Amino acid sequence: MKEEPSISGIHIAYYYLCKRKLWLWAQGIAMEEAPDKPNAGHQAVAQATTLQDTTYTRRPQAGRQLLLEQPGLVARIDYYEPNTGTVYETKPSDRMSEVHRWQLRFYLWMVKQCGMGEAIGILEYPKLRKREEVVLSTEDEHRLQDTFLQIRRVLAGACPSPIYKQWCKKCAYYDLCYITEMASE
Ligand code: SF4
Repeated sequence: MKEEPSISGIHIAYYYLCKRKLWLWAQGIAMEEAPDKPNAGHQAVAQATTLQDTTYTRRPQAGRQLLLEQPGLVARIDYYEPNTGTVYETKPSDRMSEVHRWQLRFYLWMVKQCGMGEAIGILEYPKLRKREEVVLSTEDEHRLQDTFLQIRRVLAGACPSPIYKQWCKKCAYYDLCYITEMASE
């Protein structure tokens, strides 16, 4: 029997962004990433990591990255400050801030599940000179656990339909979702 991949922060982000994107990405379907599509796939993650590396050069390197694992779940945290119990997540733009919040709540939940206490989350948008505190409520914890189930359902099902949102034009799967679909009509 094929082993199910662990749910990661990217799964959580894509689930809240677009279930079709989650499904396509989880199938390993990769598209050419054009420079005008900065939010596409791993490029967004790499961009955020680079942004963090170049923007916050004064941060101590010790204790910087964390890899947390729980059964069926994995969290790769780019920056954890152990003295204050703070998880930092850096993003280039706040256009998808609700998606970013859920990804960060997932990291806070993983920190708690790994016995490291209740962490605080800071979402950082250095290009906008903006930061936001994110906490994990009991309600959020319940919703996250439901999200894990829903993600498993999406991955086990058929490819979801396109969502026809404005941000689709920035997505790496745009051609696959719309051009191919229009051509087959
Ligand atoms: S183009 Fe739109 S519908 Fe297609 S995967 Fe991307 S976000 Fe989802």
